[in-house]
Amino acid sequence: MRVDDDRTRVMGARIRHFRSRAGLTLADLAEQLGTTASTLSLVENGKRAVRAPEMPGIAAALGVDVVDLLSEDPPDARSALELELARLQSGPQFGALGVPAVRISRTLPHDALAALVRTLQELDRKALEATATPEEARRANTELRRWMRGQDNHLPAIEAAAEEIVAVAGHEVGALTHREVALMAEHLGFRLLHVDDLPRSTRTITDLEQGRIYLPPSSIPGGNGLRSMALQAMAHRVLDHTPPSSYEEFLRQRLEIAYFAACCLMPERQATDFLTDAKQRRDLAVEDFRDAFGVTHEQAALRMTNLLTAHHGVRVHFLRVGADGEIHKAYENDDLPIPTDVTGAVEGQIVCRKWVARRAGHRGNRTTENHQYTDTVGGTFWSSTQTGSGPHGAFSITFGVGFDDAKWFRGRATRQRQVSTCPDESCCTRPPAGLADRWAEAAWPSARMHTQVLAALPSGRFPGVDDTEVFEFLERHAAMD
Ligand SMILES: [Zn+2]
Repeated sequence: MRVDDDRTRVMGARIRHFRSRAGLTLADLAEQLGTTASTLSLVENGKRAVRAPEMPGIAAALGVDVVDLLSEDPPDARSALELELARLQSGPQFGALGVPAVRISRTLPHDALAALVRTLQELDRKALEATATPEEARRANTELRRWMRGQDNHLPAIEAAAEEIVAVAGHEVGALTHREVALMAEHLGFRLLHVDDLPRSTRTITDLEQGRIYLPPSSIPGGNGLRSMALQAMAHRVLDHTPPSSYEEFLRQRLEIAYFAACCLMPERQATDFLTDAKQRRDLAVEDFRDAFGVTHEQAALRMTNLLTAHHGVRVHFLRVGADGEIHKAYENDDLPIPTDVTGAVEGQIVCRKWVARRAGHRGNRTTENHQYTDTVGGTFWSSTQTGSGPHGAFSITFGVGFDDAKWFRGRATRQRQVSTCPDESCCTRPPAGLADRWAEAAWPSARMHTQVLAALPSGRFPGVDDTEVFEFLERHAAMD
């Protein structure tokens, strides 16, 4: 609707532009076209659309080609401002003001027009900022996650765009090198520059005019974070992104650039070949895939969610969980019962204590993955978890599948098995009765404030305090005395 309105306005402006260039009045042109001046005026003001059969006649009368009418560019700077004002005045932000719209005419002074456009653009931008509240962000995020689930987390158009650019760099197998990333950037007309004074609120900045992508300095020589960051910056150009007009669009662009970077680092054909081979040998493992492409465990696990359903028919789950059991990121299309809040958001929800995503943290072994079968209310699942630690604390990365698909994975023979009855509180959120009887009256913990803003607080008598952990702690230490 909006797009059609914009097109109608641009075409009207182009017709007026060509008419005055041809030295014709409204009445002159109307007569030639066998219509009235008032109808033609509606067309020029973007209030009436030109139908396709009318176009050749209009173009001929103006001495231009039909393609000149169809161009989506405003005919000149003045028209560009007028069109932008018309667009802004027809938008919801302006409507909400209850201020009468300014009549757009040639008599409106240029500087007043420019100031008005700038002011209304700023109003739109402020409104966009204001809608990006945590609630709005969560809602938009949930929508996007549901949409991706419907696509089996696979976006063929971005896969194809990445494949094309990776071929330009001559990349064949293994890890994409910094040199190849630089070649890809060069092909797109960019130079990669490392600087140490990027604003705190930015990861990268692209100078579209000078063709430069500014990246932070490489803190770890050869660290692969920068390849991904450079690829994400380039992706905005490759994927034809324009400044986002809503928070949803902002999130979708973020998802798309991350997806594009993953496609470049683990190209579809090479990655699929690798996974096909491993699956045939019944030896699929995130760690092997990770090492073959020189990426992080998280990048590898996420990439497997992009490919395993679409190309290998295996439905999967992925979780990134923090030290307190809070979900940072989650994806499933295998029906793993991931906890959600009432809005359907998963971020900050606490996963079951019985899941390997939380149990792996206690083992402290990061050289290999931890495997486990978990019986849940949604069926039995096999999962593989790797733990790590970052600037925001410890976390675990879990990748898994339903019981029937475990046979393709290394670690399927694990004897580790847990029963989870979550969301039933007696599963793991309510302290065991024996411990509660023993310690409820005697325990007085002091809560540590959470850094994860989105994290839901464990419920207990003290907000933010996990009673079970407190009671177990007291029990352990009481036994030592
Ligand atoms: Zn549980």
